[in-house]
Amino acid sequence: MPPLALANRVTQVTPSMTLAISAKAKVMKADGLPVCSFSAGEPDFDTPDHIKAAAKAALDQGKTRYGPAAGEPALRQAIANKLQTDNDLCYGPENIIVTNGGKHSLYGLIMALIEPGDEVIIPAPYWVSYPEMVTLAGGIPVIVPTTADQGYRITPEQLRQAITPKTKLFVLNSPSNPTGMVYAPEEIKALADVVVKADIWVVSDEIYEKILYDGATHLSIGAVSPAAFEHTIISNGFAKAYSMTGWRVGYLAGPAELIKAVSTLQSHSTSNVCTFAQYGAIAALEGPQDCVATMGQAFAERRQAIIQRCRSIPGLSCGAPQGAFYLYVDIQPVGLSSLDFCTQLLDEHYVATIPGSAFGSEGTIRISYATDMETILAGMDRLEAFVKDRLG
Ligand code: GLU
Repeated sequence: MPPLALANRVTQVTPSMTLAISAKAKVMKADGLPVCSFSAGEPDFDTPDHIKAAAKAALDQGKTRYGPAAGEPALRQAIANKLQTDNDLCYGPENIIVTNGGKHSLYGLIMALIEPGDEVIIPAPYWVSYPEMVTLAGGIPVIVPTTADQGYRITPEQLRQAITPKTKLFVLNSPSNPTGMVYAPEEIKALADVVVKADIWVVSDEIYEKILYDGATHLSIGAVSPAAFEHTIISNGFAKAYSMTGWRVGYLAGPAELIKAVSTLQSHSTSNVCTFAQYGAIAALEGPQDCVATMGQAFAERRQAIIQRCRSIPGLSCGAPQGAFYLYVDIQPVGLSSLDFCTQLLDEHYVATIPGSAFGSEGTIRISYATDMETILAGMDRLEAFVKDRLG
């Protein structure tokens, strides 16, 4: 075997912790251990029947061949319609590329936009893959810490102060993974103001837009004003709202020239997203939406239960997330690093959670409650036993 000198770019990043821990939990479960997994943000529901039926029909109709790298024209149009109706964003099919999941839409964007040395502003806690993608492109992730006291929301002042002549992109994610916080419309407007004045790009990761609680609303930053629209790129996908994680269908929306560039990259890497899966995605957008509300109702009940349970455990504290399906828990009184906390909890009590360190913040863990109530209650009992034991 010749010397395995790996490319520098791959040695600069680490494997995705969310995927690694959920894979470990699955292996432990397969080995017969009674694991409660709060790790990956993956709805436990089956994909709704009408979506599966559309994909099956597409298979039967022979939609099994290569398609355009940027996606099936009918899906690009359906996404444009969705963005107009749901988000008040005016795009045509030429402004949309269908990608291999939401993650891949962000990857394509960053590869197409970020040059070595470009700065990308990322508020922390952030989703694990944002800074790694920037690093892979040779860019510089500029991490702006936010605290529980400020609801883990970057302020316009913090954003303004982080901007330099090298800033190219600001990554906005509301509702947020991992904190579940949602920016209020006036906060989005204030951030849009900073973005427009500084003349930088903002990518709005809206994958959790449909999972909201307690009357919270989602405003896309691109809908704030025509000027904000001109600075905005939208990333979204079907995984969370329609329980389609394994289908790998996401999309990016933005200026046609940018979409063309991402499509060029895609034409040399993955080519089109699985053709018949795209027909399932069309059915998701154009079919009945009550499945979204039904799953949302279940998440709301679980959220209520898990917040209550968490707050009853001495040594732990948490806010009330307004969106997504994550509880972000302060573990500082326990006195362990977040990684040690999660490792020991998994090894000793078979409860899988994600350490805050994966999201750029210590002293916290992320609990995904996209799982059934029985698992939630059993897992929280074990979490309580673990914390009690460590606190003595
Ligand atoms: N986005 C989900 C999570 O944060 C799925 C895993 C991943 O892609 O990171 O758990």
